[in-house]
Amino acid sequence: MRMLEINSLEKFRSLLGSAEDICIVAHTHPDGDAAGSCLALYHFLERRMCVRPHVILPDSLPSYLDFMIPETGLLIAESNIEAARELISSAGLVVCMDMNSFNRSGCLEEMLRSSAAEKVLIDHHLNPSVSDFSLVFSEVDVSSTCELLYFILVGIIGDEGAAGIPEKARTALMTGMTTDTNNFANSVFPGTFAMASGLLSAGVDRDAILSRLYNEYRENRVRAMGYVLSDLLKIRDDGLAYFVLRRDDWKRLGLEDGETEGFVNIPLGIGKVKLSVFLKEDDGFFRVSIRSKKGISANRLARECFNGGGHECAAGGRLYWPGDISSPDGAEEYIMNVTARFLQNGLPVE
Ligand code: 5GP
Ligand code: MN
Repeated sequence: MRMLEINSLEKFRSLLGSAEDICIVAHTHPDGDAAGSCLALYHFLERRMCVRPHVILPDSLPSYLDFMIPETGLLIAESNIEAARELISSAGLVVCMDMNSFNRSGCLEEMLRSSAAEKVLIDHHLNPSVSDFSLVFSEVDVSSTCELLYFILVGIIGDEGAAGIPEKARTALMTGMTTDTNNFANSVFPGTFAMASGLLSAGVDRDAILSRLYNEYRENRVRAMGYVLSDLLKIRDDGLAYFVLRRDDWKRLGLEDGETEGFVNIPLGIGKVKLSVFLKEDDGFFRVSIRSKKGISANRLARECFNGGGHECAAGGRLYWPGDISSPDGAEEYIMNVTARFLQNGLPVE
C-alpha cells in the first residue's frame, strides 16, 4: 500500500470532527469486510470521538456475522427504507465502505446520489467512481477495506497505534480482513500481516473470531456443500469449473442466505482448474461469484459478461433473465460460451 497522505488523514479527521450527522454505508449483501469496516468506524467514533454515527446497510447480514451486530446504531435499509432516506438526506457526512460506486449500494443508490453531504470513500476495489466523492481512500494492494481503515485509524490516532483502537473496532477490523482473505489464504500483503500483528498485540481475540466464523456452521450447509461438489460441479478440460444452484435445490437443501459463502473457492484447489464460476438463482437473476488463479482476470469476466466487477482474482455480478439469457435454463450454456474464448486466448468475450 502507498503511504497514506497526511493531508487526506487531516481532512478525514476534520470531517469526522465537524460533521453534524454521520452515516456509514456499504454494499448490498454485506460481507464480513463491508460490515466489519462500517462497524469498526462506528465503534471508533463512538469511543474515541464521542460521536454516534448511523451504520446503514442496504440489506441484512448473513447469520454467520450475527455476532457483529451492535445493540444500537445499525439500520437495515431494506426493512426500514424511510428511516434510511431520512438519515441519509439529513447527514452532513456519508462514509462509503467497501464499494467502488454508488451502484453497488442497492436501495441506497439514489439516496446517496441526491444527498448533499460530504462523501468519503474507503475501498479496495478496482475502478472507483472518484468524482462522486470529496475524499477518496482507494487502494487495491490491500487485503480488505478493513486493512485500509486500520491504517487510516492508526494514522489518525498517532503514537498510541493499534492499542488506541477500541476493542469492538479491533474485533470488527480483524473479522473483515479474515473473511476477505479467506483466513490469510489470498489477497495477503505485507501490510496485512502488519495489521494482524498490531491487532494481536493490542489484544484482539482471534481464536474467538475464527470460532464464530468457521466453527459454527449449520449441518445443512456442510451437507449442501457435499451435494454441490459431488452432483453439481462440472469441470471442463480447459480449466473451467462451474456450478449452477437452482432455487428448488437450495430451498430443498434448506440453505439460508450467505450459507453458500466460500463454495466457489473450493474448485480452485484442483490443479487443472483456473477459473471457478458459481451461479445461485434469485428473483429474475442469478447471483454470480467468480474466482480465478493468477493470470486469469475474474474482474474482467465479471465486468464483460456478468454485469459486475470486483478484484482481479475474486469478482461477482448478476446474470439476468429475460435479458442476458431468455430463462434460467439457459445459464449453463451462457457460462460455457462466454468462458471458452476467454480461457483459450484471453480474447474479449463476445
Ligand atoms: P462474492 O463472490 O464473494 O460475492 O464477491 C467477490 C467480490 O466481487 C467482492 O469483492 C464483491 O465486492 C464483488 N462483487 C460481488 N458481486 C458484485 C456485483 O454484483 N457487482 C460488482 N461490481 N461487484 C461484485
Ligand atoms: Mn472487501
